[in-house]
Amino acid sequence: MNGEPPQPDQPPVKSLRQLARAEESCTRCPLYRDATQAVPGEGPSYAAFMLVGEQPGDKEDIAGRPFVGPAGRVLDQALHDAGIAREQTFVTNAVKHFKHEMRGKRRLHKRPNNDEIERCKIWLDFERSLVRPSTVIALGVTAARA
Ligand code: SF4
Repeated sequence: MNGEPPQPDQPPVKSLRQLARAEESCTRCPLYRDATQAVPGEGPSYAAFMLVGEQPGDKEDIAGRPFVGPAGRVLDQALHDAGIAREQTFVTNAVKHFKHEMRGKRRLHKRPNNDEIERCKIWLDFERSLVRPSTVIALGVTAARA
């Protein structure tokens, strides 16, 4: 209907850049409050493979990029062994903000709950519709749920 205000659940996202901005301003669940920033997916919009992890870790939260910490090294090795260049893949997470709890000065990873996964799914759906990968690989239980 003309004149209807945009729905918060349906932001106007037409590019990965717009998507990253929308994710950064997302408040659909509480996880944005304690994270440094949203961590958008990364890779070319024509990627054939989409790899979906659970959520950003401590290093990813600070860098604002997915799979740059220890998990990134494991992923790089796995891609190398499979003969797939990381540049040909789109890597992302089911949940875009880092969920953690403080243990002293350390931030310890905490698994996102079903509600957080469900609320964040809109961004993964946008990534899939923009990249249109032929293969989506879920890395772990959370990604498989999303
Ligand atoms: S984790 Fe996802 S749903 Fe929650 S605030 Fe961040 S981007 Fe939004």
